[in-house]
Amino acid sequence: MRLSSIKLTRFDLVESMVRGKTGAMESTITTLNADVLVVGFGKGGKTAAHALSDAGRRVILVEQSENMYGGTCPNVGCVPTKMLVHYSNERRSEDDAQEFFANSVEGVRALTSAFRAGNFDALDGKDTATVLTGTARFIDEHTVAVGDGDDRILVTAPTILINTGSEPLIPEIPGLADSIHRVSSTDLIKNDRLPDRLVIVGGGYLGLEFADIYQHFGSAVTVVESADHLLGHEDDDIARAATDILAGDGITLITGARVVHVRDEDTTSIVVYEQDGQTFSVEAEAVLAATGRRPAIANLDLAAAGVRTTASGAIETDDQLRTSQKHIFALGDVNGGPQFTYVSLDDARIVLDQLLGEGKRGRSDRMAVPHTLFMTPPLATAGLTEKDARAQGLNIRVSRENVADIVAMPRAYTVEETRGVMKFIVDAHTDRILGAAILSIDAQEIINTVTLAMRYGITATQLRDSIFTHPSSTEALNEVFDKVVG
Ligand SMILES: Cc1cc2nc3c(=O)[nH]c(=O)nc-3n(C[C@H](O)[C@H](O)[C@H](O)COP(=O)(O)OP(=O)(O)OC[C@H]3O[C@@H](n4cnc5c(N)ncnc54)[C@H](O)[C@@H]3O)c2cc1C
Repeated sequence: MRLSSIKLTRFDLVESMVRGKTGAMESTITTLNADVLVVGFGKGGKTAAHALSDAGRRVILVEQSENMYGGTCPNVGCVPTKMLVHYSNERRSEDDAQEFFANSVEGVRALTSAFRAGNFDALDGKDTATVLTGTARFIDEHTVAVGDGDDRILVTAPTILINTGSEPLIPEIPGLADSIHRVSSTDLIKNDRLPDRLVIVGGGYLGLEFADIYQHFGSAVTVVESADHLLGHEDDDIARAATDILAGDGITLITGARVVHVRDEDTTSIVVYEQDGQTFSVEAEAVLAATGRRPAIANLDLAAAGVRTTASGAIETDDQLRTSQKHIFALGDVNGGPQFTYVSLDDARIVLDQLLGEGKRGRSDRMAVPHTLFMTPPLATAGLTEKDARAQGLNIRVSRENVADIVAMPRAYTVEETRGVMKFIVDAHTDRILGAAILSIDAQEIINTVTLAMRYGITATQLRDSIFTHPSSTEALNEVFDKVVG
């Protein structure tokens, strides 16, 4: 427990003696009284902690692991995976796959440890904020215990922010949970040995991102997905275009298949699945269960604080992210919202508006929240799909063009990545953009311009006629809106 910090004298600090089993006074319990307690070092929690400390509040942030300062994103989520996307695309055929991968993992380690240290120092370095390292568990609605036994301390605060994130969900497939070759996304990116064969159970966004990365590094990747089609919530043309690219890069995509059990051999696992009434198997050195993540609440003892959870195990919140205890807020993945770093950041905006601002922001104000699947090239989407818009009976026009055909976007040719397609759903009456699906080089950037237009009512025509730098990918917008297909 980090209790040596001189700054702790700034918090009301109470030491009380505790009786042991024999009745004798045996140990002391330290209680720190802060203005704001943040549980978990995620994006929302740390952003709020910085702002509240800058506003003069005495803030204590509790993080369970010294390997997680800054939370999932910079340590085991967005940052390392996107760096691996980058490295995996740099690999040349003459590179030794194992050596190249080990060097890449080393590069990721260097960056993530620098980010981790930066996150700790930036917050703990503030006069009125301190970071405690230990697992927090509620004692009552104003108190958490950090750590266990004699080493534990108590922290109390009138305002508490829970930002404990999410953890992988292991599906109940016989043999999977106990398989020694089962890996989480965190295990995979920390291990510097590239699996020769990787099986990914689940073809959602995370699964496909890992499939793409490891295939590019040189693993033979198989994705086993129970749905009949990958990316089923996208329009068929977009899902097909993305799937063709993944399959074209050599990934084996098995859909409509149910994994029935996993059996360990010495150095591999056999993943057995059923498809169309027949049984098949595939062997691999590593099996990634990519079937979703659930809110991380197991250690919190929320019942002790009277904080309610939903049927799906998330912390129940209102539109301003207050829990069933009005002084306790829940931010980020733990409140069951979309699992993105930028949503956790936006949660911090809402909570800060409650604590320091006008109290007007709410989750329901959000619109056109973008999403990117970082395959190569990336697929970025926002708003309505064509099928959803038609199901709602909206009067729409659809513009669509393959990246290779977009004359206004030579950048695709200059970086030798001409695969993909762009598609926009536009309200035929108002000319406002209702939805976008961009499978293209730089899609993760282009989508931000499009969603800004969607949010602030810039029409398709205004976007088409805007001045963009050249050669850039945004220039595609000068052309694709004119390619009306329906
Ligand atoms: C492999 C992967 C790739 C991803 N890629 C992207 C991406 O490209 N873009 C994107 O936007 N999102 C991405 N995400 C999702 C994104 O990382 C999460 O949505 C985001 O980090 C959630 O942040 P959070 O604020 O909810 O909390 P987190 O960042 O998850 O932080 C929660 C913290 O709480 C700590 N904690 C938990 N319980 C306790 C406790 N009882 N006491 C003390 N501390 C505790 C944890 O150790 C952790 O550090 C990715 C996720 C993964 C796993």
